[in-house]
Amino acid sequence: MIMERKIKLKTLNSHITCKICRGYFIDASTVTECLHTFCKSCLVKHLEENNTCPTCGNVIHQSHPLQYISFDRTMQDIVYKLVPNLQDDEMKREREFYKTRNLPCPKDLPQNHELEESGAEKANEAHAESDYHRQDEQVNVCLECISNNLKNLKRRFIRCSSQATITHLKKFVAKKVLNGMDKYREVDILCNDELLGKDHTLKFVYVTRWRFRDPPLRLQYRPRIEL
Ligand SMILES: [Zn+2]
Ligand SMILES: [Zn+2]
Repeated sequence: MIMERKIKLKTLNSHITCKICRGYFIDASTVTECLHTFCKSCLVKHLEENNTCPTCGNVIHQSHPLQYISFDRTMQDIVYKLVPNLQDDEMKREREFYKTRNLPCPKDLPQNHELEESGAEKANEAHAESDYHRQDEQVNVCLECISNNLKNLKRRFIRCSSQATITHLKKFVAKKVLNGMDKYREVDILCNDELLGKDHTLKFVYVTRWRFRDPPLRLQYRPRIEL
């Protein structure tokens, strides 16, 4: 059994290690255009001096490459499943790092997603103004209602630009089932039971939440729940 796992891990290693530091991915972050993955800290450091992907050399974005990388939950989960103890060791190492500097560990603090996302929102707005997304890559989405208090969509399967955001989908749902696009804030959209951030593009959601599954990307909607 041990032998078998060793062989498997060896063949998989190139897929779950960072090309920059040669270690297993820590906070796996994926370039949304070319889908190459690195540790978050390795990639962020690289992008301070460059705007290209370290693997394929593609320009990620001329001036704001950091807005086109995203935490890759699927990849990180795979790494943690394949490499026992990595998650615990990494958590311990990180807490130790902050403790020796007398700082609170960011992973122990409540997350503020609104703040994190405001930069991406501006980039998306600028992008939306530049064209009407007709030439964009398309994503097939199945949008299902998971609440008895909202109507089902007549057509659950939709096809839209991979650059469309969760806010666009909320507006679509609000228009269809709440009779007013302006009520879009009353809608939550989820994937795998996880609430999705309003500025996430469908490409981002697909890559980080649906990468190894079959299309369509399955999303759910419900009336907004105040958390
Ligand atoms: Zn790395
Ligand atoms: Zn790349």
